Amino acid sequence: MSIIINDVTKKFGEQKALDNVSLSIKKGEIVALLGPNGAGKSTMMKIITCYLPPTEGDVKVFGYDVLSESLKVRRVVGYLPENNPLYPDMYVREYLEFIAGIHKLGRKSGERIKEMIYQTGLELEHHKKIGALSKGYRQRVGIAQALIHDPEVLILDEPTSGLDPNQLVEIRNLVRTVGKQKTVLLSTHIMQEVEAVCDRVVIINHGKIVADAPTRELQLLNLTSRIIKAEFDKTYDWQLLKNLSGVMEVQPENEKTVRIFINSNEDLRADIFHFAVKNQWVLLAMGYEDQSVEQVFRKLTFESK
Ligand code: ADP
Ligand code: MG
Repeated sequence: MSIIINDVTKKFGEQKALDNVSLSIKKGEIVALLGPNGAGKSTMMKIITCYLPPTEGDVKVFGYDVLSESLKVRRVVGYLPENNPLYPDMYVREYLEFIAGIHKLGRKSGERIKEMIYQTGLELEHHKKIGALSKGYRQRVGIAQALIHDPEVLILDEPTSGLDPNQLVEIRNLVRTVGKQKTVLLSTHIMQEVEAVCDRVVIINHGKIVADAPTRELQLLNLTSRIIKAEFDKTYDWQLLKNLSGVMEVQPENEKTVRIFINSNEDLRADIFHFAVKNQWVLLAMGYEDQSVEQVFRKLTFESK
């Protein structure tokens, strides 16, 4: 296991930012920590990276304890903190040299900095001041500094927040590429990010884990309320579909398309087909609508309140 979080509680005064959280992350996994603001994502990441001690419980990274072996933990962990704090007056290369110095890379540092600049796509920017870079390039510098000592584990706290759509795609691709050789935990409140980058989703709300599943499985979760989308050749009296057993609700999407909400685990497509034939409706297309992670997320975080 790369990361083992064992019954961790973090209190700020009386408030529990993390409430008895346990989580294990395997070597090589790319895991999303998904949750609304204030859920406890950053707190969990600060504990894993030794920036905050847990109030109760223990955390191990590559077998090292975050409290008693924090120097070893810092050696195997790369961390991009929330809001990516950088020194705007430093030049990109100068800053990376500074970070390489902190990690005591010594003679290796020149080569390593060159590699990082190449890997994060900073070739055209490395001679500029950090303050002169766009937000997307600043994130690249943040990722480069997190990777410079070649850590096994990468902790990225909202790596794409505040980026424009193009930068967002670029940073996601970068995370996916570097993630091939690392264990990655990244936090986000953007669902598409999870679907685009991560193997597994851990959903956190009010300091508690409310779901933990492979991304694909999470989309299939909650099969009890599924949606079938059906298209007909013209407008009919859709409300009649409600007479079918297992149909909860019917909502027209436009003149010819309806969304049929199912509250049974049975496949109702055949029933809908026969119903259409019986009523002489011409059915042009029909299929299940994939529930987005967002829908599942809303449901889970709402229900856990
Ligand atoms: P997230 O990153 O998911 O938005 P955080 O981990 O930052 O959530 O915060 C979780 C909760 O803990 C919030 O209610 C926040 O106000 C509180 N919190 C975080 N850091 C501190 C702190 N240093 N002092 C007091 N409360 C804090
Ligand atoms: Mg946060």
